[in-house]
Amino acid sequence: MNKIKKKIGEWKNLLDNDTFNITRNSGTEKPFTGKYLYNKSKGIYICICCGNELFSSDSKYESGSGWPSFFQAINNKSIIEVKDNSHGMMRIEIICASCDSHLGHVFEDGPEPTGLRYCVNSLSLKFKKIE
Ligand code: FE
Repeated sequence: MNKIKKKIGEWKNLLDNDTFNITRNSGTEKPFTGKYLYNKSKGIYICICCGNELFSSDSKYESGSGWPSFFQAINNKSIIEVKDNSHGMMRIEIICASCDSHLGHVFEDGPEPTGLRYCVNSLSLKFKKIE
């Protein structure tokens, strides 16, 4: 995986404020507000910061959590998992393997076949529709 490194000020110039806060400051968008929550189109979700392919629409499902949810990543190299003990919880953070953008968290309460729930901020994603 080619690593994309930018200074924090460069990201700030490239991204709007909300996207910067989520992706570079590990923020969380308010539930049920993200633009991809109910997106059912066929396509690929890529990293808003660097374009790395992250999720296929084939693995998207309705979790009821209020955030776009997927039961698997598009491949085993696209996303890195990091222990996150912030906010008094023990969670697994997921970040873009290419640019380290914060995406969301992964939980073990997802559907078959993986049992995983990748819970992702819409603001961390960009959708590329497949016609
Ligand atoms: Fe990225």
